[in-house]
Amino acid sequence: MARRDVLEYPDPRLRLRSRPVDAFDESLSRLVEDLLDTLRATGGIGLSAPQIDDRRRVLVMDLSGGAAAPQVYVNPEISSRSAPGLVEESCLSVPGVVANVVRATEVRVRARDAAGAAIERELSGMEAVCLQHELDHLEGRLFVDRLSLFRRLRIRAAARRRPAPVAAAGATAREAGS
Ligand code: ZN
Repeated sequence: MARRDVLEYPDPRLRLRSRPVDAFDESLSRLVEDLLDTLRATGGIGLSAPQIDDRRRVLVMDLSGGAAAPQVYVNPEISSRSAPGLVEESCLSVPGVVANVVRATEVRVRARDAAGAAIERELSGMEAVCLQHELDHLEGRLFVDRLSLFRRLRIRAAARRRPAPVAAAGATAREAGS
């Protein structure tokens, strides 16, 4: 299908809340393919629909290091979560920023797959962290919202100075976010 442009902070479209999917149709399949193509092209580990300017509750993850083992979650909901820990995160929509945030290190998630079948999984470690990060995107939240006001203001000022989105296209695997 196609690699799509990734919206970047402080684009106001990243602040919109996504709506549940009720049609498991060709359009949804195309969205999932585009998300996976864009994720592979950017070298990230997770990507949500709003990051490519689509307001459906869909996210994809691939923590297999480039191998083809993607996970697709439609209408995901966390049904339980463990005690929180401090983890390091970055985001394809906030290039160049790595920061520690508090997340549950284990979660149980209920969702649909791209065909509409119910799935339920227990995730831990980076998978659990990535899922929570992408779920935040569906609510219009970004991981920088979880940082101090001082840090957020510095990140916002740096984003405004950034010349053009194309400059962020060459993210390395190590810096690749979600
Ligand atoms: Zn992100």
